[in-house]
Amino acid sequence: MSNFAAYNFKGQKALIRVDFNVPLNDKFEITDDTRMRAAVPTIRRILADGGMVILMSHLGRPKDGPADKYSLKHLIQHLSELLGGTTVLFANDCVGEQAYLTASMMRPGEVLLLENLRFYKEEEKGEESFAEKLSKLGDVWVNDAFGTAHRAHASTAVIAKFFPTEKRFFGLLMDAEVASAEKVLHKAEKPFVAIIGGAKVSDKILIIENLLERATDIIIGGGMAYTFMKAQGGKIGNSLCEEDRLDTALEIIKKAEEKGVCIHLPSDSVIADKFAADAQTSVSPSNNIPDGWMGLDIGNMACEQFANVIKRSKTILWNGPMGVFEMPKFQHGTKTIAVAIAAATELGAFSLVGGGDSVSAVNQFGFTDKVSYVSTGGGAMLEYFEGKVLPGIAAVQS
Ligand code: AMP
Repeated sequence: MSNFAAYNFKGQKALIRVDFNVPLNDKFEITDDTRMRAAVPTIRRILADGGMVILMSHLGRPKDGPADKYSLKHLIQHLSELLGGTTVLFANDCVGEQAYLTASMMRPGEVLLLENLRFYKEEEKGEESFAEKLSKLGDVWVNDAFGTAHRAHASTAVIAKFFPTEKRFFGLLMDAEVASAEKVLHKAEKPFVAIIGGAKVSDKILIIENLLERATDIIIGGGMAYTFMKAQGGKIGNSLCEEDRLDTALEIIKKAEEKGVCIHLPSDSVIADKFAADAQTSVSPSNNIPDGWMGLDIGNMACEQFANVIKRSKTILWNGPMGVFEMPKFQHGTKTIAVAIAAATELGAFSLVGGGDSVSAVNQFGFTDKVSYVSTGGGAMLEYFEGKVLPGIAAVQS
């Protein structure tokens, strides 16, 4: 792998795997362009060197080949605006004659966007012959799609073998993602708190187990906290519970004790008589929730307890909300965590927010610029913290 920052892309055609899998409304307007904006610095840098940029991405989950709904043509105009009015050429097939011809006629400073990679089943299957066809479009390959780095697809990983090591790069986004994940995973300054929330214990077991080896404190909030409460003999009413994970919860608590990691569970909860925005609410100890009621957010005591742990930490990882933050009555806990992380960050802590829902919470509450790093890759970040090798990263490095 070569160093992107040190390389001069002059005269080079850079084939960049980006993650332009943005949400579109029914008028094909982009409703959140975060992923596109995240790729702009890499594109600009190559163009500024006098290079040419060929962008490849997937969009949505097309099932049977080309479908207008999933066409990347809907992104052309906005991409051009993000690049300060640069003309964006488009190839309505990511391989094939038009793509090759357009690529061959490109001049320095030009940008070509290829049609959706997933119009070919070969992409997700990681077929070598398809990866080879794609590789013919560029002189160098840049992987800047952290969001798909956990997939061994043709354009994210398999393609690497068709470029010599010195022609493979991480883009600036990928570089930043990997650097911040590494900082937390392998170079964390202690105390290191991991805040894990969301609905299900089963989704987060591997990440918790890996963090037990590294963190000083683990805060567990959200729906998954009630499985831990019940496992320890608590009464949780109708709160979320994974009966088949009660043993796992106890094992995690036991392992934490053995390793000297402090697990923090919410002492109290905001409870509701139904799962609805207009539910009646009350507060109760999280291990003594009345029948017919359910815990939908952490309570004030838990907020204070968690905020204190966060504020004395030097490294903070946050994945998953503390409650049903989509409903105003149950967002206080998640917001308090965001405030505490922002305060700790201001005092010098390194904070990384990763995972779809905590990222939307941070955006929704306006804290994006108050944390050290917000990851663009939900699933990829989760797998990284589970300790897995991500194919999209390994392919560039190996
Ligand atoms: P996950 O995708 O596992 O990170 O879960 C995120 C989802 O968990 C969000 O949609 C939250 O509304 C939901 N959630 C968080 N806390 C609770 C809770 N106490 N009860 C039910 N759902 C919850």
